[in-house]
Amino acid sequence: MNGQLSFINAAEEKLNDSRPPETIIWNPWYGCHKVSAVCDNCYMFARDLSYGMDPRQVHRTGNYNLPVRRLRSSPHKGNYKTPSVSHIYTCFTSVFFHPAADSWREEAWEMMRERSDCTFFMITKRPERIAACLPSSFSSDGRTQNESWSHISDPLDPSPNANRIHRYFMPTPATNRTIPSNPITIPRIKMIL
Ligand code: SF4
Repeated sequence: MNGQLSFINAAEEKLNDSRPPETIIWNPWYGCHKVSAVCDNCYMFARDLSYGMDPRQVHRTGNYNLPVRRLRSSPHKGNYKTPSVSHIYTCFTSVFFHPAADSWREEAWEMMRERSDCTFFMITKRPERIAACLPSSFSSDGRTQNESWSHISDPLDPSPNANRIHRYFMPTPATNRTIPSNPITIPRIKMIL
């Protein structure tokens, strides 16, 4: 679906969906590799290791196409399973910009474009990969076609590479940016934002 059709589709979906919006989690892929000390307490790693699983195996999940699934029954048959205007927490069991997901990401961007009636929130500790991972339809003026993705954020990095926030994250064309500070591992006085 091209960008214009996506926009029309999203506008129609808003008109045709009377359900209240929801807040949901969409994990299109699972698994990761630690990037620095900020990953020491990764809940995904801890959980997998407690079950004897290898959290470094990155794979697509059964919910890969969750945002574009449609209902086959119920009074809202034909609508997307995820109501219009929902807020979608994206990729919380991996990192959206993980290199192992390079071949899947374009399709994920396409799903987000199709659901431009929703907002997508993602967190990454790999801001240096964002520029190379933007969708091919991304316009040269620095804006997405329909701005269906809204937040990308980066945690405080206690390593000397903390300036990655400035170098890689701040120039990103996300419509909104947040910088979660959990855990706070460096004195706030050292933050230069
Ligand atoms: S980047 Fe996130 S998901 Fe990946 S190991 Fe670190 S804390 Fe876990």
